[in-house]
Amino acid sequence: MKYIDEFRDGDIARKLAATLATEVQPGRSYRLMEFCGGHTHAISRYGLLDLLPPGVQMIHGPGCPVCVLPIGRIDSAIELARDKGVILCTYADTLRVPASGGLSLMRAKAQGADVRMVYSCDDALRIAREHPDREVVFFGIGFETTTPMTAVVIQQAAALGLTNFSVFCNHVLTPAAMVHIMESEGDPSRVALDGFVGPAHVSTVIGYGPYEGFAQHYRKPVVIAGFEPLDVLQSILMLVRQINEGRAIVENEFTRAVTREGNRKAQARVAEVFELRECFDWRGLGEVPDSALRIRAEYATYDAERRYGMAYRQVPDPKACECAAILRGHKHPRDCKVFGTVCTPDHPIGACMVSSEGACAAHYTYGRFKEIPLRAEVSA
Ligand code: SF4
Repeated sequence: MKYIDEFRDGDIARKLAATLATEVQPGRSYRLMEFCGGHTHAISRYGLLDLLPPGVQMIHGPGCPVCVLPIGRIDSAIELARDKGVILCTYADTLRVPASGGLSLMRAKAQGADVRMVYSCDDALRIAREHPDREVVFFGIGFETTTPMTAVVIQQAAALGLTNFSVFCNHVLTPAAMVHIMESEGDPSRVALDGFVGPAHVSTVIGYGPYEGFAQHYRKPVVIAGFEPLDVLQSILMLVRQINEGRAIVENEFTRAVTREGNRKAQARVAEVFELRECFDWRGLGEVPDSALRIRAEYATYDAERRYGMAYRQVPDPKACECAAILRGHKHPRDCKVFGTVCTPDHPIGACMVSSEGACAAHYTYGRFKEIPLRAEVSA
């Protein structure tokens, strides 16, 4: 299968691991953040941590779109469906994210709210056309990867003259979140990260150019990597080489899909429909300036926040939940006391256990048993 099998070749993976082992400098630590949940998933699924030499440590980042959505935004979506009587269309993962009062969109649906799972925003538009007597709201979430589709669907709604369709826009921006990770400790030089495995799908849209200023300013190398196991291993090797040589630039491992400029047509659509929000509340990161989009005044009719006068309320995560620390790269899923006991993919307490891209869900599915023998050895 072209572009898949050749990036899962075990022999090449072993060779890459051997090269990595020779190039990692003894006694030196390489703390690398995989920003994207897709990379977290690939690392867990293919057991890549077992191939990394001591000294190379992978830190989960906040790049799972479902995980970074704060409780207050899910609460608002529930209110739309339950109190305003709209048909709320949402992607599947969002349905199960815990909200306030023991609710989730799925539980609200069970209680009678008209919440519908869709595969694309196009489905939401179709539902609006099929139900001209009902208000239909699309719960738009995601990074730069999904934003162009939402822009297109808003423009399609405008072209069709639909008056019963709007979007609850929660689209967020990657470079701003990376900057926030560096700035949130006060002094960027105190952030214990040596490099970033850069997002794949996001970069197909925005290109790798937007990370260049980041790498230069913070002296942190960034390697844009695909989601297959060899992509990730190769990008780790490229980061180790940069760190060894004292370089901090953006390199592109994912050359088969990413260019410096990205997808200009998609960027133009996004710019036509959206503008920057001054601030957006991220789960785990808190208020991040210039890190999200809102719908431009020209398309105000299609902006659910304006149409329904929605006001955002900040809601803290449950006390036991360590999602915030995990999304900031401070903790590992195993550090959460409820991981794998009270909190499981079937019964998530926090957002990181919901989507397969979430760090807790990835670790639960592929890695949770690995630590049991280690604990046994320690206690022996
Ligand atoms: S195990 Fe559950 S509660 Fe704990 S950090 Fe992960 S998602 Fe949050």
